[in-house]
Amino acid sequence: MSQFTLLVVEDEEAIRSMLSIVLQQHNFTILEAASVAEAKVILADTLPDLILLDWMLPNITGDEWTRQLKSDETYRDIPIILLTAKGEENDKIRGLDLGADDYVTKPFSPKELVSRIKAVLRRSGKIHDLTQIKYQDISLNTEQHSVNINGTEIDISPTEFRLLKFFLTHPNKVYNRSQLLDQVWGQSAYIEERTVDVHIRRLRKILASSQRESWLQTVRGFGYRFSEKQL
Ligand code: CA
Repeated sequence: MSQFTLLVVEDEEAIRSMLSIVLQQHNFTILEAASVAEAKVILADTLPDLILLDWMLPNITGDEWTRQLKSDETYRDIPIILLTAKGEENDKIRGLDLGADDYVTKPFSPKELVSRIKAVLRRSGKIHDLTQIKYQDISLNTEQHSVNINGTEIDISPTEFRLLKFFLTHPNKVYNRSQLLDQVWGQSAYIEERTVDVHIRRLRKILASSQRESWLQTVRGFGYRFSEKQL
């Protein structure tokens, strides 16, 4: 399972599938949308780590949607990279003014695109390195599949690892069981919601070995959140 999920919004199918193939080769999980309407359906279920947004879309332009996303509390933290055509200098400036994080001009080399994506992901917050995720004194290495708390390496199974990885990259926010299922197990997984509780309990037990269990909090009636601050 890849560490980062990217939403590609592009109406031209050839470009969309090219992007999808290239980015999957670089270990990103790709969600594809041919329109803003399709993208909205995906966003209702899944919060991607980054949106690659074509500037020229039918019905609603990239700038209009960028403005909507950046004024919506749920989505404003998702970095946006605009895909623009050559020579649309004004569009680029406008896009950046509206809150887009970067732009890439078509035609672009896959190598350039991937390095722009990585740079934006790094700038966007907790990610210091693509293989190293940190939250306070907890660090997780996605290549070695290891977790270190306050200098001590801890034993962790694959599902709890993915769950912890999600929480470390999305701290201080409440997620319900269904959101956690989508984000950690994937939308196609056929798993009951109470399975989430089982893995939360296991992860809490793992965290307890380093006195960090209180960071994995139950928010009654809503779900779970991960935070060093108590509610
Ligand atoms: Ca287009």
